Amino acid sequence: MKTTIIVSLMVLSAFLSQANTRKSISEGWKVGVAKADITPKNPMWLAGYASRTKVSEGAMHPLWAKCLFFQDAKGNSSALLTLDVVGISSEFGIDVRTEISRKTSIPLSNILINCSHTHSGPVLDQVLTSIYPLKESDKKEIVKYSKWLKETLIELSLRAHKDLEPVNLYAKNGVSRIQVNRRTNQEKDIDVLKELNGPNDFAVPTIKVETNKGNLKAVVFGYACHPTVLSGYQWSGDYAGFAQLELEKLYPGTAALFFQGAGGDQNPLPRRTIPLAKQYGKSLAAAVERVLNEEMTPLAGSFKSSAATIELGLSAAPSLSELKQIQKEAGQGYIYEWSSNLIGQYEAGKPLLRNYPNYPIQVWDFGGQKIISLGGEITIGYAVKLKEKYGDQIFVMGYTNDVMGYIPTELILEEGGYEGDTSQRAYGLPSKWAAGIESQILSKINDLMDAIN
Ligand SMILES: [Zn+2]
Repeated sequence: MKTTIIVSLMVLSAFLSQANTRKSISEGWKVGVAKADITPKNPMWLAGYASRTKVSEGAMHPLWAKCLFFQDAKGNSSALLTLDVVGISSEFGIDVRTEISRKTSIPLSNILINCSHTHSGPVLDQVLTSIYPLKESDKKEIVKYSKWLKETLIELSLRAHKDLEPVNLYAKNGVSRIQVNRRTNQEKDIDVLKELNGPNDFAVPTIKVETNKGNLKAVVFGYACHPTVLSGYQWSGDYAGFAQLELEKLYPGTAALFFQGAGGDQNPLPRRTIPLAKQYGKSLAAAVERVLNEEMTPLAGSFKSSAATIELGLSAAPSLSELKQIQKEAGQGYIYEWSSNLIGQYEAGKPLLRNYPNYPIQVWDFGGQKIISLGGEITIGYAVKLKEKYGDQIFVMGYTNDVMGYIPTELILEEGGYEGDTSQRAYGLPSKWAAGIESQILSKINDLMDAIN
């Protein structure tokens, strides 16, 4: 009898001490969540491919904007918004973040807007608009929708702010191998390749938001891979949309937020069928489900952030005669549009862009979990290098706050090709980035990481 009581007391005391440790480590957080269906009501052009020839024809599933509003133990707040769109412009990002900052009194550096980069979402104002053969009425619809989306995102963040409740936060990286490096593997050979070449980063960064009663309130997960399985005419979030749907089905009442990582040179291969998009989505959801059910790292109730914008140089632009030659050879399409636009600037005596002035970089620390977020179509080499320097547990986000072009590593810039050179034309930039882009970005990240340590 006496032994039983002693053993019971020991078990109870061990349980209490474990519960206390857990509580003290992750206590102090409050999180609010909100979702908005952002599927366009009217037919519109789908974003991401120059090859489409007409507007949308209905939805495969809704497109979503989602917001998590975080508050740490000291009342520091931050907001993460995730969108099922291909990208947003600098102006769009600044307008929305400024308004959220004004209405919720949180600094701009504490607000992130990540685009999933789905290639089956709507064209937004000032993002790749020259690659589509748009009529005036199409352009009007794009401007109207973009304005509506801005208002919706601001309203969404206010709803998430009102939803704040005490939670525990946990983080961990899972793994999924659905990404294929599209620069080092040929898509046409994908079914017969015995080995796939890298570089890759197979991490599935995951944050669990659990209420004090132990219910899963939200899950944030990321992956570095182009949502380009589908190229049809129905709205969808592509594999990332199917992954979110699957998690929300697995955990009813939970909001699943997807963020795009450094997926600039990664494709889901093979691709082009709906069953494949579902397969990759379910596979990614299964990677998240595994992480949620394993031991995760509890995050202390403290938030820190640091942010900067830097000027990225562009290399020398083509001459007027070179552009005229390119225009003649193109005859039509977005290369024709791009060269005509630059020729127009030359002839009007306007100087061509020599640099991109406001490239955004933000770093966050959620109770020890570092998140490095970058604008543009970040290529995987950045994630690899950042993890070598700051450890495998960090999370890397691309496509955040402003999607102005591809962001090649120095190697990709030298090699050229789409991500290193010609994609600049789709984004309306006059030339490829100047040498030194990689060290410039990595060095600024280093400053920002020092600032929050
Ligand atoms: Zn892309």
